[in-house]
Amino acid sequence: MDCIFCQIVDGKIPADIVYQDEDVIVFRDINPVAPTHLLIIPKKHISSLAHLPDAEIPLIGHMVKIANQLAREGGVAESGYRLVINSGEQGGQLVPHLHMHLLSGRRLSDAIG
Ligand code: AMP
Repeated sequence: MDCIFCQIVDGKIPADIVYQDEDVIVFRDINPVAPTHLLIIPKKHISSLAHLPDAEIPLIGHMVKIANQLAREGGVAESGYRLVINSGEQGGQLVPHLHMHLLSGRRLSDAIG
């Protein structure tokens, strides 16, 4: 298994883990683009949003729930934050393991892409 995020899930490479449960793990992005930049990923390998089986759609809801919880705990629920899922090459996805970015702590660009 050469997926870098699967190796983080398996504890084979280090990460600054801030949350985990049965289904997801959250760690700090190694190259943050905002004062708080977290990655919320499923423990199970799903290569991208485009490869998410319909039966796994509830996983996205769980990831959003955890993101909202971490935003509340980080004190940015009211000031604001952004959730981003890049999918595929033209969507800007570099790591082929489904992940959601949680960005907060500064005024983010109004531009979407
Ligand atoms: P994306 O472009 O949506 O695929 O985003 C991938 C993100 O993973 C980037 O923001 C990288 O900085 C981040 N990343 C890559 N390798 C690691 C790692 N070992 N630990 C933490 N974040 C990583």
